[in-house]
Amino acid sequence: MAWRASGHTNAELVHNLKRLGLIESPVVEKAFLAVDRKYFVPVGRPASVSLSTPSTSGQQQQQQQHMEPSASATAQVREASAPQPPAANAPLSVFPGRQHEERDEFAQNDPYEDSPQYIGYYATISAPHIQAMCAELLRSHIGRPGARVLDVGSGTGYLTAIFAKLGEFTLQLSDATEDIAAPTPATTRALLPRVFGIDHVRPLVEASLQNIRLSNPELIDEQRVAFKADDGRLGWPEYAPFDAIHVGAAADVVPRALLEQLKPGGRMVIPIGPEGGDQKLVAIDRDETDPSKYIQKDITGVRYVPLCDLAYQWQGALNADTEEEEKL
Ligand code: SAH
Repeated sequence: MAWRASGHTNAELVHNLKRLGLIESPVVEKAFLAVDRKYFVPVGRPASVSLSTPSTSGQQQQQQQHMEPSASATAQVREASAPQPPAANAPLSVFPGRQHEERDEFAQNDPYEDSPQYIGYYATISAPHIQAMCAELLRSHIGRPGARVLDVGSGTGYLTAIFAKLGEFTLQLSDATEDIAAPTPATTRALLPRVFGIDHVRPLVEASLQNIRLSNPELIDEQRVAFKADDGRLGWPEYAPFDAIHVGAAADVVPRALLEQLKPGGRMVIPIGPEGGDQKLVAIDRDETDPSKYIQKDITGVRYVPLCDLAYQWQGALNADTEEEEKL
């Protein structure tokens, strides 16, 4: 169901989010205006073939062939016919790039509708009003000079890009620089946030890079965003600690690694609760003076896809596709 902020254009959507009090601060507004959702929401109805032809490199295919055989013979037969997810830790291919205009497999999606939209692989991009809420909750942490931000379950890369722009505008505001189109000067660049996106679905990670290349290429050219295909529950220890952590999928329990990788004085925003059940979005603040202390604040009830094993999500997507085929 579409929520109340829907618009016909990105600007109209942002205007409505502001009118409804979901966007409160000028920097969040600027970031939402600077990152057009049309580059991130695939247009069309999901194709049932999308999973049977994952874009795997030769190396990935080789890795798949070496996967452990399953215990029972029937399971082996089923596995032989079911497409396997590409190995999460295989190197990213250079982004061959499905062009935005070619994404005709998602016909019913409207980028400016205030509702979650299917992005393939059993995942959704969250509704704009929830994303606005998350951006507001993390705004002051992302806006710290030189902040490091982790976006777990980065999906389309939309929020990853929003966070990067949000930090940029916060610094510019404190500089009283008004020209948002001007190239970022080197002195400011060192203080810009670096945003690290992780998603375990490799084709989504590749698409997210392509999306950002189309919408905000400076974020890639200036290495202000980075992605990897991996299990996000493990965080990204090489770049920890993080001033802000956003998790875009619901966890039963907050992953320990993420709590550990949150900087003292940092904030994590994460949906908690069972798949398809009662979930709540919470903000967790790590105490600056006593880092063993975490304070959790409930924000609102939500419905997110689960933070789960890749194999579980892949299987779910395959089942969803089969159900879709049976209906046809
Ligand atoms: N913030 C994203 C939300 C995508 S939906 C957006 O707005 O586009 C949630 C994402 O979490 C999916 O892309 C899914 O693939 C990912 N995900 C689920 N479990 C994960 C895990 N264990 N590690 C990494 N990503 C995960």
